Amino acid sequence: MVKEYTHTKRARRGNAGAQYGYNNGRGKTTPEKQRAERGQFDFDVINGFKLKEVEFKMPPKSEREAMREQFKKEVRPSFLKYVAEHFPDELRAMGISDVGLATMRKGYSVNGYNVHHKLPIHGGGTNDFKNLIIMPIGPHDELHHLVIDPQLKNKSLAQGIKIKLPWSDDMVWKRPAKSREKLNMPVAQLMQKQAGR
Ligand SMILES: [Zn+2]
Repeated sequence: MVKEYTHTKRARRGNAGAQYGYNNGRGKTTPEKQRAERGQFDFDVINGFKLKEVEFKMPPKSEREAMREQFKKEVRPSFLKYVAEHFPDELRAMGISDVGLATMRKGYSVNGYNVHHKLPIHGGGTNDFKNLIIMPIGPHDELHHLVIDPQLKNKSLAQGIKIKLPWSDDMVWKRPAKSREKLNMPVAQLMQKQAGR
């Protein structure tokens, strides 16, 4: 049986992670955070991503920089065009408007969404489309802050370590039905802000 990670309360401003037991609101570490640093989680699925054990090994700096450069200049624009062309319905379901789709078809990013490397470049991940997924920034940042980053803390990444990586086979994120409204919050807030400009 798959254990799902679910939101309980909304984060207070500037206090992200508090509702997951990751801090007490004053930045102090908690047992939950210490467990995360050891790769121990009481959920198997977070924001639609299944935790999977992988090797995380940092490539040399020159390789990482070349890969990031290639991503920004070529891969991200072509990925945005590709998903806009092949997955318009999935993108609309994620909250992207017709204007946003037109922006993506030109190869530009849409505010509030991020193209995430499932296995990060600094962990040996590539710019292959299969390693990329477009998703809202809120749930995206949680993958890094709650799952990936804690496991990298004080580790020697050049040697390669095993970590639990949030994994999805999709190229466009699907909002998990269970925590629909909560997960949609950052995007909804952003859209309100944009409308008010
Ligand atoms: Zn990311």
